[in-house]
Amino acid sequence: MKIELKGFERLQAAVKSDEEKEPNFYDYQDKLAWVVDRAKHYQEKTGIPYLEIIEKWEENRDYWYMNYYQDANQPLLTDENVCVFDTVDDFKKAVGQDGFYCPKCEGISKKPYECTCEKCDWKSYGLFRTMGKGVYIFIKSTMLGNEIFEPVKFRR
Ligand SMILES: [Zn+2]
Repeated sequence: MKIELKGFERLQAAVKSDEEKEPNFYDYQDKLAWVVDRAKHYQEKTGIPYLEIIEKWEENRDYWYMNYYQDANQPLLTDENVCVFDTVDDFKKAVGQDGFYCPKCEGISKKPYECTCEKCDWKSYGLFRTMGKGVYIFIKSTMLGNEIFEPVKFRR
């Protein structure tokens, strides 16, 4: 079955509609160009066609594209705190059973997104995320990227 790529069209339509409603209010075209540039960077680093990358981003986008598309959500895969894995299994193997450092209480959490330490409920997807102490994981097989607490195994 041929995969239909509607994500980019959906994004273009959203940009067009905003431009008509509030012309010159935001740099809509700059944002669109940024998305394409960033998706092409992902293609270069992962071998996944950039339109499929945008498709996935659009599938997961549940708020305005002007806020959704930014370095914090789609970082360069060459950034220091970004790790790319082929599969979820590869990621799990790399992380092992050692847990993750919570950026808030600095304890070792059993979960990568929600601290499991006593009296701490910090979440990597909350307003302050991992306060710059986490890592961004991109899984090629699912085409999904997420910011998580730093795996204990990753720290030397
Ligand atoms: Zn904690």
